Amino acid sequence: MYTVFVAGHATGHPSPGGYGIVLTLRGMPTWEQDGLLASTSPHEAGLIAVREALRAVPERTQPEIVTGSRLVRRLVGGEQHPRKPELVQVLREIRDLTRLRRLQVRVTQTGPGTMEHLARAQTLAETATARARRSANSPACPKCGDRMSVKEVRSGRHRGSRIWGCTNFPDCQGMILLYEAQD
Ligand SMILES: [Zn+2]
Repeated sequence: MYTVFVAGHATGHPSPGGYGIVLTLRGMPTWEQDGLLASTSPHEAGLIAVREALRAVPERTQPEIVTGSRLVRRLVGGEQHPRKPELVQVLREIRDLTRLRRLQVRVTQTGPGTMEHLARAQTLAETATARARRSANSPACPKCGDRMSVKEVRSGRHRGSRIWGCTNFPDCQGMILLYEAQD
């Protein structure tokens, strides 16, 4: 018996967000997953978490999905119909997955170990949101293409200047000058 604890997180409409999933089999956590969402809303992130949970469980099973969001439960359960196009779209994907993967899904607010596993899913979602926010706001490194963060140069020719510095420093010395200190 699979129980999947899911959480979505975002702070605005729209804003960067994330989701977290903790898959348990007979009460034992067996797998977890998170994902970054470049632009989403709290409700859409919650539905995306459900969608990804349905991809994570084996076909022809009867998974129980546990979410702390009442609206997500009502939407997936068909008790409430969404008006926002992005919610309609994710809900359609959930229905398609359910049918194609021959799942019998039950959405609920509690399951074995709810407190612990739901908290873990929430943490995964929030951490993913923080990563999504950072990557949304930072340019790509001109040398290696990875993310950059704002730094202040402490020595050398650019001392006192603010730069975007590569997060792989010192392996990568890529930088973009933001503000040049004047002596
Ligand atoms: Zn770099």
